[in-house]
Amino acid sequence: MKKIIFILGMIIMCIITTKLITQCFHHEEKDKEIITIVEDKADAVISIHYPKTNIKELDREIESDIVKQYMAFSKEYGNSDYLMDRDELNIDYQYDKSNNNYISITLTIYINSYKLQYPSWSVITYNFDGNKKEKLQLSDFFSEKELIKLKQKIKSMMLEKYQDCIIVENLEQLLAQDFSNYPYFSFDQDNFYFYFPEEKLASDYHEIITISIPQSELSSTISLVSSKQQEKTISIGKQQSIIDPTKPVVALTFDDGPSRYTEEILETLRRNEVCATFFVLGNKVEDYQEILKKSVSYHNELGNHSYNHKWLSRLPINSLKEQIEKTQQVLQETLSYQPKYLRPTYGSVNDRIRKNTELKIVLWTVDTKDWKITNVDRIIEKATTNIKDGDIILMHDIFERSSQALEEIIPILKEQGFQFVTISELEEVKKIRGYIDVDN
Ligand code: ZN
Repeated sequence: MKKIIFILGMIIMCIITTKLITQCFHHEEKDKEIITIVEDKADAVISIHYPKTNIKELDREIESDIVKQYMAFSKEYGNSDYLMDRDELNIDYQYDKSNNNYISITLTIYINSYKLQYPSWSVITYNFDGNKKEKLQLSDFFSEKELIKLKQKIKSMMLEKYQDCIIVENLEQLLAQDFSNYPYFSFDQDNFYFYFPEEKLASDYHEIITISIPQSELSSTISLVSSKQQEKTISIGKQQSIIDPTKPVVALTFDDGPSRYTEEILETLRRNEVCATFFVLGNKVEDYQEILKKSVSYHNELGNHSYNHKWLSRLPINSLKEQIEKTQQVLQETLSYQPKYLRPTYGSVNDRIRKNTELKIVLWTVDTKDWKITNVDRIIEKATTNIKDGDIILMHDIFERSSQALEEIIPILKEQGFQFVTISELEEVKKIRGYIDVDN
């Protein structure tokens, strides 16, 4: 009898624990969303990604900085006469949250312009106590004594890592200053990161000087174990839709996601029993991994759209490769998925991209302009008028209007006799038709 009660007790405990864990996990998924702004204008390309945390004080600060950056860029850049001279603003984020609700956000601001000799980089960091709703300073993490040690550590690491370019006199001067003059730092579960503008510190080096120090080497007063939960397995469903290669096909594609609208779009596709291809940004994969798993399990295809939407055709080879490979890597690590296709940002391709990737390059044949057009009916019209067999339709899964338009677009195209294919399937269909042609 005692044994039975014990076992029952254990079962109840298990149920409660599972419930709690599920709730925590759910909460974790919802505690931020990622805002994406992509503009492809005649004189400038803009791509901005930043987290919204639901902590008003923090969000206000981040948003005000984003607006400032956007305004400053618009004032200074984006007014050249030649299309080839388009200027670029790219803002990306790093987000980390520890188990005690400490939030660390780093915004990296990148500006490229023919007006500049080198692209310009800067960072802004936000460290926040999510419980107290207060900013965190470096002195909240380290005692006076530890700060002195930290200072020495930064100095020696900088001399080592940047030995070729560091200006030693300036380093002495900078690090002699008080710690309140080290405003840019962040953390994740393993490291502390310190950022320094390169202008004063280095010669012939044009990126931000970054020093990372493992937490195990520092005695912080606070433990910063990350609250990120990662589940790394996924079952990928097999494509089951049957396509008649003799009938017209069309491929819906979505760029710049995933976002908070992607799930809606997935449900619309599923309700209509059709599939699409999503060209995703690597920097969003971890935050939206559950949605991406769902997308793949619904037989949609994922493609590579760079890591954080930098203008690929203008990047030096190293950065170009990094943009592509980092996205392949994060998809492999989180979903065990390897995209076969690359859609270069802003549809801009050159030989440098072609030569430096194994991925097949896919553009589009129909542009719905849903990033610019705000009227849902006009997006529907663009996506359903004069559509030809084999067309690839470009949309973006980062707008509510695109999701709304999709609900109408699918039935209209079905009515016109189209079957919906992923890019891989489109390629298959073309191959089969090629063979048919040869046979005939
Ligand atoms: Zn894009």
